[in-house]
Amino acid sequence: MELEKPIYEGKAKRVYKTEDPARLIVEYKDDATAFNGQKRGTIAGKGVINNRMSNYLMQLLEEKGIPTHFVRELSERQALVKRVTIVPLEVIVRNIAAGSFAQHYGVAEGIVFDAPTIEFSYKNDALGDPLINSSHAVALHLATPEELATIRDYALRIDAILSDFWAERGVTLVDFKLEFGRLPDGTIILADEISPDTCRLWDSATGEKLDKDRFRRDLGGVEQAYAEVMERLRRHES
Ligand code: C5P
Repeated sequence: MELEKPIYEGKAKRVYKTEDPARLIVEYKDDATAFNGQKRGTIAGKGVINNRMSNYLMQLLEEKGIPTHFVRELSERQALVKRVTIVPLEVIVRNIAAGSFAQHYGVAEGIVFDAPTIEFSYKNDALGDPLINSSHAVALHLATPEELATIRDYALRIDAILSDFWAERGVTLVDFKLEFGRLPDGTIILADEISPDTCRLWDSATGEKLDKDRFRRDLGGVEQAYAEVMERLRRHES
């Protein structure tokens, strides 16, 4: 679809207005960044995979009772979504120690937690998305205590649904990042994306990384990992 100038262009996506003020179009790019924009590159075909995977998983979550911004897929790189005001928090759920958790707390990657952990980062590029606790988020008027309770409940339900989904496909959901938004009436819904850019996905048999860590850590085989995880998702599609 030919579109006007985007109203927003981020690291991995462009967002366009539509004739309907309540709907936006999200377009997924192949550009990749890491470490708050310090590392830049391209992952060929990533935009198509992230669009399709995110749309598929959002539909699955809707079927399981989690409200999301997804309306419909428009093309291989574009989706129609509900317009929301983003809650400026990155909501991170972890099942296994990895990444910044392993670094901050001095533990080895791969330690399986007894129960999932949940943490928030303040979405603020200038500050480097610092970790924030819920009382700080309330103090800064980023979200109300009621909204935070809803977000926690959804995040943990999403973790249970997606962990089962990936386990059936031989993939372990290590951790992931979610973003939520508010509809005009204040309802909290899941927004942004769910993709190998925003999740750590390990092959359950070999432990091989099938996500953006291959790009972040220069492990090679980045495109192949994205294609492999997309293939696993499709394998059980009826
Ligand atoms: O780097 P860290 O261990 O905190 O990342 C936890 C999870 O959140 C990973 O799955 C990562 O891909 C995701 N994440 C993200 N966007 C960020 C930070 C983390 O999608 N800005």
